[in-house]
Amino acid sequence: MSRNGFEDFDIDCEKHGKGIAVTVCCHLVKNNGAPLGFIENSSEPGDFQGWCYACEHMFSQEEDKTERFRKFCNFSVICEECYRSIKEHHESNT
Ligand SMILES: [Zn+2]
Ligand SMILES: [Zn+2]
Repeated sequence: MSRNGFEDFDIDCEKHGKGIAVTVCCHLVKNNGAPLGFIENSSEPGDFQGWCYACEHMFSQEEDKTERFRKFCNFSVICEECYRSIKEHHESNT
């Protein structure tokens, strides 16, 4: 699977300072309420992408990371520490 133009780069997180940049879908970032599920897609070591079940459903329909899929996911870049806490929160109903 291709990297889709997402490169590894450092991020300066408000909470955690400089860290490794990772991407998650906009739903996971915004939602702090009910867990949305968490699909981890790490096609390469150290290259993490996460998205929710709704995005996974879209992905399985599109069968690729199409324009439509990306618009739906609207990926945000966050630091790895934030990613971990988001993952913990949204995974908790699986
Ligand atoms: Zn999503
Ligand atoms: Zn952070």
